[in-house]
Formats: sequence, C-alpha cells, structure tokens
Amino acid sequence: MASKRQIFVGGVPIGGGAPVAVQTMTKTETANLQATMEQIRTVADAGADLVRVAVPREKDAEALKTIVKDSPIPVIADIHFNHTLALKAIDAGAHCIRLNPGNIGGREKVAEVAVKATEAGVPMRIGVNSGSLPKHLHDLEREAPVEALVAAAVEFVELMESLEFENFKVSIKSTNVPNTIAANRLLAEKIPYPIHLGITEAGTKWSGALKSSVGLGTLLADGVGDTIRISLSTFHAEEEVKVAWEILKALQLRERGPVLIACPTCGRLQFDMDTVVAEIEQRLEAYEEPIEVAVLGCAVNGIGEASHADFGITGAKNEGLIFAQGKPLRKIPQEQLVDTLFEEIDKSLGRGKTEFEEAQAAEGEEWLRRIEEENAGDLTPEKIAAMEKAAAEKGEDITAPGAEGEDGEYMKPVKKGKRVELGEDASPTAGRRFTRA
Ligand code: SF4
Repeated sequence: MASKRQIFVGGVPIGGGAPVAVQTMTKTETANLQATMEQIRTVADAGADLVRVAVPREKDAEALKTIVKDSPIPVIADIHFNHTLALKAIDAGAHCIRLNPGNIGGREKVAEVAVKATEAGVPMRIGVNSGSLPKHLHDLEREAPVEALVAAAVEFVELMESLEFENFKVSIKSTNVPNTIAANRLLAEKIPYPIHLGITEAGTKWSGALKSSVGLGTLLADGVGDTIRISLSTFHAEEEVKVAWEILKALQLRERGPVLIACPTCGRLQFDMDTVVAEIEQRLEAYEEPIEVAVLGCAVNGIGEASHADFGITGAKNEGLIFAQGKPLRKIPQEQLVDTLFEEIDKSLGRGKTEFEEAQAAEGEEWLRRIEEENAGDLTPEKIAAMEKAAAEKGEDITAPGAEGEDGEYMKPVKKGKRVELGEDASPTAGRRFTRA
C-alpha cells in the first residue's frame, strides 16, 4: 500500500516505496538565525531527513535564504493564512512548502502559489487539521469526523489537480489517535500521493511518544505513510527525531545506529540494571553502526536468550561477563562492566571483527557454567519460554491444566493437539514494506 507517486523534497525521495522519511520542526523563532541553525544541525545529527520551519512573518521568509543555504538537510517552509509568504519562501529557496489550501484565502491564491512552485520545481505538502475543516464539512464532522477529514483532504487534492499541480504530499492530522488511523487508512485507499503522518499536539515526551507510536506505528505497519513527524511538547526537537527513529527501527523499516535489548529484570536481578542500561543507552548514541547490544540482569539463564546480540553483558555476585555473538569474551569485576563493554565494542569495530582471547574466554565460560549450575533449579522467565518453545515444537503444552504431572514434576509436558502456528499470511506485516533499508 505504499503510495504510488513519489516526490522529492530537496534530494529526499518521499513515497513510491522510498524509505519512510523522518522530519521534525524547529522550535526557535525562525528569524533568529543562530538559534534556528543550531537546532537544525542538532536534529540533522539526530537523524532528521527533513526539517520544517515556521514562516509567520516577513523576516522569517527573509531568514530562509540563509537557512536553506546553510542547512545540511532540506528545509520545508510552514505557511498559514498568507500566500505571499509562500511565494517569498519559494523565492528564498525553500525545498518544500507546507500549506493548508483551506486557510490561504481562496482558489486564486492557491493557484498563484502552485504556478510559482511549478516554475521553481518545489513540491508542497497540503494538509488538513481536525481543528480547521472547511465550514461546509462541519455538519459531517459532527456525525462522522473521519469521513469529514478525508473529504477535506480529497477536496484539496482535487483542487491541486484542477490547478495542474501534482507535486505534493498530503497530511491529515488529528489529536485523536483512532481517528488519525482510520482517516489515513481511508485516504491511502483514495489517493496515489505520498502521505505525511503525525498526531497533532500529541503531548509530552512520554505521553506524546506513546500516542505517536500507537498511531503512526499502526499505520506504518499497514504500509500507510511515507514521511513522519512526532510532535512533542519540548523545545528539544531532536527528541522528536529519536522517537521517530525508534518507531521505524521497531518496525524494521529502517536501520540507524545500535539496537539495545535488555531484560525486564525480576527478583533474580544481580546488579543495578537501571543505571547500567541508562548509561549504555546514552553511550551507544555516539555510535552509527547497527550493532545489537544486550543487557541481562543475571547469568542464571546463561546467555542463550541474547545469543544473537553482537555484544552483551550479564552479572552475578560482584562479577560480570562480557559476551559477543553468544560466546563469553571475558569475566570482569562488576563495576568495570560498562567501560569494558565499550572497550570491547571499540576494539571489535576498529578491527572489523571480534577476537576472542582463548584463556579469558575459557575463564568466562567456566564462570558462566558455575552460575548456571548453582541456579539450575530456578525457573526463570527465559527457561519457561524455552521449555514452552521446545514443548510446542513437539506438539505439547507445558501450561495445560494437569501439566504438573503425577510424579509432581513441575510443568511436566503433556501431549495435546498441535498448536496453531501463525504463518506469514496471517502476519499483520506480511507482504508489506518491511524489507526496505
Ligand atoms: S531471570 Fe531473566 S528477567 Fe530476571 S534478571 Fe535474570 S535475565 Fe533478567
């Protein structure tokens, strides 16, 4: 369901199967060149593909000339109400104009912008917001808000087509997550143009990130959406970019930098995971390589659950283990775990491969074996999952009533009907765009 059409904002392809582009918006007064450029560089470093700046005044349009020239990523001018600012933004070299055709003063003014954008080869984003639908749709909005949003977007699309301007993407924004999902699904069925996704006024870093993840994540999993912006109530626009990337990485739509996996911890936890995970997460931000790093709160389960990780740590009894690709690298005092982990990551990335020193690896192996042996009777979440998996493969169910067995052996596997296995066809992501880099 990727959009059929593709447009280019600067050099960034949007839609038509291109990777989902990450955008954000500066929070500075655009005309404050120093502050705006500083924020643009920060968001570009954080991974923004595109940046939008508000252009509510003449001086902002004027500042655009310098911003466009100095920005490391394409710049979108955000225009409301005043079409002359859109014309000036195009003259200033903006790579895209964001416009709500409903609030710019009528067809003639939209047409003027379209003509100039065509001459300059500049695309537009035309958008509707749930708070500002055209008057004639207000009754429909009360009865059927989703249909009203889509009707407004389709009317704008038809308006642009009637002006022979088709170099645009479309957005429907709402503060309501279910309405945003439903409206964009419907819109994607009706139009071939790229779609920009966002939840308006999503909220703080915590609640806004969650709302956006649910709304945008659902749509992206459906294959709807070609560019995204996470709206968060924070001055730090780079936080929006980080959340956007986490959504794309979680859906395996794009790769960027390391992936951290960490156990949820439980009563077997044997070191201060909270601070260790937070420190590792922060230090990993300096890396661009898509390495996977695992943090296990105890070594009771061995390292099997994290055997696919490129690097990992686990700890027990004031000691800890660094491991790589499922094998011990070395045992070390617990307080050195994090520093040593990063030494090993750096060494490995520098050499292009991980080298295991035989004696240290053997010492780590022995330590791990001892911890596992001492805790062999413990049923950890990981062991239960492994038992369930093994039983399922044999057509058994260790969680079925009576699974305890006559001899009292805990969770002794019992035979039952073969489990239903979800095939690729049943996957919500089957056949969608998940192979995109
Ligand atoms: S048993 Fe599992 S969840 Fe509990 S601390 Fe150990 S690794 Fe983490």
